[in-house]
Amino acid sequence: MSDPLNHSYYAATAHEWRPRDHIEDDFSCDVAVIGGGFTGLSAALACAERGFSVILVEAEHVGFGASGRNGGQLIPGLRWTASELDTEFGHERADALFDLCWRDNRVKARIAKHGIDCDLKSGHLEAAWTPGDFDAMRREADYLATRFGYETEVVEKAGMDAHVASPRYHGGVYDARAGHFHPLNYAVGLAKAAEAAGVRIFEGRRATSIRAGDPGQLLLGKVAVEARYFIDATDSWIGDLEPDLGRYTVPIMNYNIATAPLANADELLPSDAAVADSRFVLNYFRLSADKRLIFGGGERYSQTPPRDIAAFVRPFMTGVFPQIADAKIDYGWGGAVGVTMNRLPHIGRRGNMFFAHGFSGHGALVTTLAGELIAEAMAGTAERFDLLANLPSRPFPGGNWLQRPLATLGLLFYALKDRLG
Ligand SMILES: Cc1cc2nc3c(=O)[nH]c(=O)nc-3n(C[C@H](O)[C@H](O)[C@H](O)COP(=O)(O)OP(=O)(O)OC[C@H]3O[C@@H](n4cnc5c(N)ncnc54)[C@H](O)[C@@H]3O)c2cc1C
Repeated sequence: MSDPLNHSYYAATAHEWRPRDHIEDDFSCDVAVIGGGFTGLSAALACAERGFSVILVEAEHVGFGASGRNGGQLIPGLRWTASELDTEFGHERADALFDLCWRDNRVKARIAKHGIDCDLKSGHLEAAWTPGDFDAMRREADYLATRFGYETEVVEKAGMDAHVASPRYHGGVYDARAGHFHPLNYAVGLAKAAEAAGVRIFEGRRATSIRAGDPGQLLLGKVAVEARYFIDATDSWIGDLEPDLGRYTVPIMNYNIATAPLANADELLPSDAAVADSRFVLNYFRLSADKRLIFGGGERYSQTPPRDIAAFVRPFMTGVFPQIADAKIDYGWGGAVGVTMNRLPHIGRRGNMFFAHGFSGHGALVTTLAGELIAEAMAGTAERFDLLANLPSRPFPGGNWLQRPLATLGLLFYALKDRLG
């Protein structure tokens, strides 16, 4: 295994996939997409469907980044609550964002349209770590119902056993419209659909620079690709190609484990929902199709991974499920979460280059949407793209050198509060 962070259950159970194309010579196209995660694949597919000639270059392989390593939790919305959006942006804009980010489930639509086999399941529970967290969740659930007509189910502490067999939680909110899936197989399914739609996908090709112009040029080492439009979908790596955009996010390392298949899996999570709790450094978990517990917990603000990922994550799992403290752990992996200063994604356009990054740990659903909106904008119908593109965003303070230490300090503060709370 060349990448010690990617000894993942997903890589071990990925569907067969090999791109058809190799790139040897210079050539030209309408759209060049950089990055083969959900954002890039979705954008490439949607552009091809609109009749553009499209290539996608991926430095490693499709789903190599966060898209092939995440917790697989499909949670509608953004990292902000709907009431926060209302307060900050006013009703009209919040309504439009709500329609897009909560109601419009493009992942489900893609899975249905292309018959993507990725273990999609329904149901998500937000679980309260403290009684105060539960009060806030209940208020937000009421708000969603009365203001947006979006019904969720408030689960009292006494009813939590129906979803999660843990003594830790003080109640929760269950959303039947949310769910979970095998993220790498979704990425592979999108790649196959994109190829079928005419996208030429090149793996193992790292873009080294984008030169503006009409047409502009994308350099892949010695090979040059001329294109009318570029889509930078490199998320945590965006600063390598566009140093200025790199100032808008910091990469936070997050780790997952998968146990061996568990005989008592259905007792741990009887409704088979995915669960994420309300800690600042949250625990999130779900069952795989073959009844493993996939558990994410613990962040590190250093880029150096723990020597033993299983040993690092196990205490978080045991904290939630003491009854499986000794469970065998078959896989441990990690990845970088691109986090913006205000936790809203940073999406936009600079000349003929579109970008979308910084989904702040909440990208499994919204990246597919973002990719499709970029294609809409390119085709000249930019209204809905502008909705997301105009979310406020600021670079982290301190310039390139100080930016990470300062951001890290802030995150450490909240993580400490978690431990004390
Ligand atoms: C451990 C972990 C758990 C998470 N859990 C969840 C979750 O449960 N729910 C949720 O909603 N979100 C979750 N997220 C966040 C979510 O996975 C991301 O927001 C989303 O996958 C980002 O997709 P992307 O396509 O923008 O970026 P990525 O998937 O990171 O794709 C970027 C791609 O660009 C490629 N690349 C980089 N530089 C170059 C270059 N120069 N040339 C060519 N290619 C390049 C990379 O190899 C990579 O494949 C999690 C993230 C992590 C890391």
